[in-house]
Parts: sequence; structure tokens; C-alpha cells
Amino acid sequence: MNVYDGWRIASMLTHHGMTQTDNVADADIIVLNTCAVRAKATDKVYSALGRIRRAKKPSALFGIVGCVARESGADAFRRIPDLNFVLGPQSYHKLTQILDNPDARLLNIDLGGLEKFDELPQMEKSPTVAYIPIQEGCNHCCTYCIVPYTRGREISRSFDDCVRDTIHAAKTGAVEICFLGQNVNGYKYTDENGKTYRLSDLIRAAAKIPEIMRIRFTSSYPTEMTDDLIEMFAVEPKLLPFLNMPIQSGSQNVLTRMNRPYSLELYTDIIDKLRAARPDIQISSDFIVGFPGETDSDFDQTMEIAKRIKYINSYCFKYSPRPHTAAALMTDQIPENIKATRLAQLDEYLNSVQREFNESCVDKTLSCLLEGPDKTGRHLVYRTPYMQQCIVVRPDGDAPVLTDIKITAANKASLRGEIVK
Ligand code: SAH
Repeated sequence: MNVYDGWRIASMLTHHGMTQTDNVADADIIVLNTCAVRAKATDKVYSALGRIRRAKKPSALFGIVGCVARESGADAFRRIPDLNFVLGPQSYHKLTQILDNPDARLLNIDLGGLEKFDELPQMEKSPTVAYIPIQEGCNHCCTYCIVPYTRGREISRSFDDCVRDTIHAAKTGAVEICFLGQNVNGYKYTDENGKTYRLSDLIRAAAKIPEIMRIRFTSSYPTEMTDDLIEMFAVEPKLLPFLNMPIQSGSQNVLTRMNRPYSLELYTDIIDKLRAARPDIQISSDFIVGFPGETDSDFDQTMEIAKRIKYINSYCFKYSPRPHTAAALMTDQIPENIKATRLAQLDEYLNSVQREFNESCVDKTLSCLLEGPDKTGRHLVYRTPYMQQCIVVRPDGDAPVLTDIKITAANKASLRGEIVK
């Protein structure tokens, strides 16, 4: 979501006649796009602002957009008095106002819903992987999560707008579509005739576009994984066999306190149905360790579910208390050292499964999408259908955008391969 927002901001400033620079000292405007999901991310914003302030031209405008802007509001100006703008995730389309009126402070943290999508200029060129936001905000209100506060209540964009953006992306260079939403599989839009559209309808519409070869979506909430959507994995070959469906914890007790009221049986049933629909599917998850009140036995149950489901490409985080959330007020917070020990244990296991999965790909041929050159410029980085990085030697001449690659080697982080001619 933040990568997408960053692209839209860059494209808006380009429309305004600006060009991008990698050098802070050259910039006339510096926009820091921010994440508030864990405290560490928020802390980094303020240290980065200090660095930017020292490195920038005195006349350059600087400020923050996104979730830290929404969370901090006017307080950001108190912390950094010469800051020029503070714009929340649903009001960054107002950024160019600061260029017209550089002496005023620009503050807007309103939750404007979908207004920004109507006001932002269309991107002229689409990246190969185009993100298409189909809904904003989230209604689930997990007790640890700041997102409902920073991005607001859930609202789905109209089916026609989503399809129009998908076609535009395809006509301007996209080969892969990634539908985006905080609760993407909860997408639900009813038009003026009373017809209701779900994510499965969007997948079907995207799959009909000849330029689009791969489709995925993120992030999914377990109980929104309805049968019509599971069916898509069986019938739509363009839908990639990879799904991020965070479980967060393997303890029923912790899930209840997280306000994630699904049973572990229901969750594993959904995984079984997905595997029946698409035998080669792989699942990834996010985990939080050290949620308030998490006992050793709760944590052991998280390890157990991880071992049972064998997730690939997963993330685990230490619970981080966030403002405006219920869990931050719970009295049984877990000491930092216990969180760190649990994180290391789970992380080590998830990494070992990732390595095993990567190694199981050796000698297979996978259809991969070009991401771009690596840092040295001598290699190209591709993405497999499971979002693994696959590195190949750069061929002479133009490299194929979507190609079969024979996997020749693997480690924990990436694969190596050869383009199949
Ligand atoms: N709805 C989005 C939420 C983004 S946050 C999504 O599902 O991706 C991404 C992940 O960050 C969550 O899945 C969760 O595992 C983690 N997270 C959210 N709040 C957190 C907190 N307070 N402390 C630690 N991790 C958190």
C-alpha cells in the first residue's frame, strides 16, 4: 500500500513539472511517506526528518505523508517547527497546494474515503507490476492494530473504477496486477442496480485482459476467504498460486484477545479448501509474538500451527503497543526479552522452511516476471509465482519480461536460474 502511495505521489509531482532526484541536497521538495504500524517505524520517521533537515537546501520544502502524519497531526509541527506539510494517507493528493503556497503550513489528516482516487492524475506509465487499490481502511479492529485509526473505516471502490484502473494499467505496461486493500478479500461493492461485486468478480474481469498474465491480491483476512474466491484458484490460471493469509497467533485464547474471532479449525479448513482447489498453492502468514498475556503454552501453539501449515515467505513481529488501540491498555504486557526470545525461535523456524522450499525448487522450471537489474547491473532479478527472487545472468540484448526460468541453485533468500530459450 505504501509503495503504491509513493508511486502516486511521485507521479503527481511529475505532473506538476518536477523531476526525481536521489540527492536530498538537490531537492526542492522532500516527501517522507510513513508507516505507523509498529513503534519502530514511527521512531525512524523522526530521526530521518532530523537528517533530512540538516542535508536539504534551506529553501526546500519537507514534510510527512501517510500514517505517521495522520497519527501525529499538528504535533509533528511542534516536534519539528520548520516542517512544511503533514498529510494523512487519504489526503496526500492535496500535496501540490504547498507548492502554490510555500509559506503556509499544510495540515490535513482527514479521512476523505475515496476522494483521492478521483483527484490524483492518472499515471502515464504503469510499472510491470501494477498495484490497484480496491478498498481503503479496515473494519476488523484487531486490538493491536492502528490501521483502522490511521486509514479509517473500510470502504470499497466501485467495480467500474477498479476495472477502469486495471485496463489503464494493462494498456500502459502492466503484466501483473496486484489488487490492494487492508482487508482486500472483504471487497464488496453494490452498484445502483443492486448488483453486488466481490473480489472474485474483479479477478475474473482482470483475467480477461490479454496483457495481464499474473494476478494476485493482498492482504487477506481469514474469514473473508469465501468459496467464490477459493474457486478462483481452481479455475483461473492467471491467479498466482500464492496467498498471504495472516494467522497472527496459533493460540485460540490469544486470537480472542486480539479480536480475531475465528477458530483455528475454520482457518485450517480454509487452507485445506485452498489446497484442494490449487494443489501447488503456497501460503504465507504474518505472526505477532509477545501479545499481552501470551504464555509459553500460547507461543508453543503458534510454533505448532507454523509447523503444521508450513508457510513460506512469512513475517513475524514483536508485539508493539500502539496509540488508539485496545491492546496497548492491557495490563499483562510481555517483557521485551521474552518477546525477543520468541521472535528468534519462530523466525529461525520460518527461515528454515523458506530455505527448504527454495531448495525444493531446484531443477524445476518456473514462469518468472522481470523486476529489473540487481545492484551490480550484471544480473537480472525475476519474481517466481511464489514471490521468490530469482537471479539470472543478464543476457545480451533485451531480456524477456515474462519467461520460463530453470532453477539451478537456492539459498534462504533467493534462487538462481537460467532463462529457458
Ligand atoms: N491489514 C493489513 C495490516 C497491515 S499491518 C495486513 O493484513 O497486512 C501488517 C502486519 O503487521 C500485520 O499482519 C501484523 O502481523 C503486524 N502488526 C500490526 N500491528 C502490529 C503491532 N501493534 N505490533 C506488531 N505487529 C503488528
